[in-house]
Amino acid sequence: MAKYTGPVCRLCRREGVKLYLKGERCYTDKCAFAKRAFAPGQHGQGQTRKKVSEYGVQLREKQKTRRVYGILEGQFRGYFGKADRQKGITGENLLVLLERRLDNVVFRLGFAASRMQARQLVRHRHFLVNGKRVDIPSYLLKADDVISVRETSKESPLIKEVAENFANKTLPAWLERSAEEMMSGKVLRYPTREEIDTPVQEHFIVELYSR
Ligand code: SF4
Repeated sequence: MAKYTGPVCRLCRREGVKLYLKGERCYTDKCAFAKRAFAPGQHGQGQTRKKVSEYGVQLREKQKTRRVYGILEGQFRGYFGKADRQKGITGENLLVLLERRLDNVVFRLGFAASRMQARQLVRHRHFLVNGKRVDIPSYLLKADDVISVRETSKESPLIKEVAENFANKTLPAWLERSAEEMMSGKVLRYPTREEIDTPVQEHFIVELYSR
């Protein structure tokens, strides 16, 4: 499945906000945005931020959301279409769909330093859903689904390191981490809008796609 393979720090600088795409590095003084908080490119530094049009605001909010979850345009539109067909508020439905992705849940459970790493670990077949191997990062989880790491993967140095580093990560209320089993967790229910801490204003995305 296609994914963005360019430099990710550039995306934060383009959006003018830290998107936390690189895990631990984002919290250190190595963060590129902390060092160069201006748009990328030859003329980025000299640019003063111009007044942005309504369309520009909507577009940036959509791009930011796509980049936080690591999704390309076509797939993102697909999620929007699905959210629009569901009952309820389209923008909230969209965020809930994005949160239900397996790579996002692996990240939220603290089984990876970033969504990008979560995606890679899923791709490398380290995880099971309800005991079955799933290597599709976009797999949509449902309430009561159990996510666990494969027995053989528990010996991987990378998995061990991640398990140690993020064992105490604070979880959102809609997820539960097993106290007994290493890197095992459960989706208790779908998140509410208040429980999704992604800094986006989803109504702008709805307005953009409704043009
Ligand atoms: Fe963004 Fe993280 Fe890179 Fe900083 S280190 S610019 S927060 S991806």
